[in-house]
Amino acid sequence: MRTNDDIWVREVGLRDGLQSIETIFPTEAKLDWIRLETDAGVPEIELGSFVPPKLLPQLADTKSVISAVGSEPTLHTSALVPNFRGAIDGFASGVQQLNYVLSVSEAHSQANVRKSVADAIADFGRICDYRKEHREHANVRLAAGLATVFGCTISGEIKVHSVIKVLEELLAHEPDEIVIADTVGFANPSQCREVFELVLSTVGDIPVSAHFHDTRGLGLANVGAALDAGVRRFDSSLGGLGGCPYAPGASGNIVTEDLVFMLESMGLKTGISLEGLLAARTCMVSYLTEEPTRGAFVNAGVPRGAVLASSVNRLGA
Ligand code: ZN
Repeated sequence: MRTNDDIWVREVGLRDGLQSIETIFPTEAKLDWIRLETDAGVPEIELGSFVPPKLLPQLADTKSVISAVGSEPTLHTSALVPNFRGAIDGFASGVQQLNYVLSVSEAHSQANVRKSVADAIADFGRICDYRKEHREHANVRLAAGLATVFGCTISGEIKVHSVIKVLEELLAHEPDEIVIADTVGFANPSQCREVFELVLSTVGDIPVSAHFHDTRGLGLANVGAALDAGVRRFDSSLGGLGGCPYAPGASGNIVTEDLVFMLESMGLKTGISLEGLLAARTCMVSYLTEEPTRGAFVNAGVPRGAVLASSVNRLGA
């Protein structure tokens, strides 16, 4: 894995984006998109999700995508797994990292996966045990994601202490990464600062990523607050692809190219070429039928005289 950048960006458009839109991308189209983002220097791409194809036909080819991408020297590959069953498929697929996600809201967990939070934590434990028992999978990294950390569409407010309690139980299973997700775009910057300071002081040396949705327009403001708290890893989606299954018309993840522009102009190196991202965006958009994309950088470009942290970014110079 690359270590010489200040910030690690994970592209989640191929999973979070595609799972919430109607268009089904052909495998070849996904591979074009992945190739262009890899060329642009994106360090990690979440290639899909191990959920039953009937539930998410958009991601039914996850296994083929993973095997076609194979092992790229500059790209770390990951896939989402919602449960133990999905993790077994994930381990067999050759992907380099499995991102397990559970909801910290009891009501959301029951509604989404018909499982208590305690059972979902136990499932992560089984996944970690499976890796220990199968030495051939020892190199597969395991991330534990906490969804609905900043609020829940069913139960509303989520108390910080209940987040920390779930986090501590997950930490007992020794994850390689923690992902803190604002699944439905409830978070505000003050809340982010408070939550991430507490999370970072709880996890020790384990890397923590932030996963923000721009549902209410606060996505990049939340990134700023998370940066202040010390977070150095962010999820985002090219062109802000996607939406929120619970709020029709609502916007999806924060926009990769806007995030990279913000970080680079703040002097934080991502190793990602903005020009390369725009090429990937053009390719992605060409396969969309109905869905809108978002983003400000694509329209405005780099301001005259702006200095971007990664030397690869010469756009607008
Ligand atoms: Zn998401």
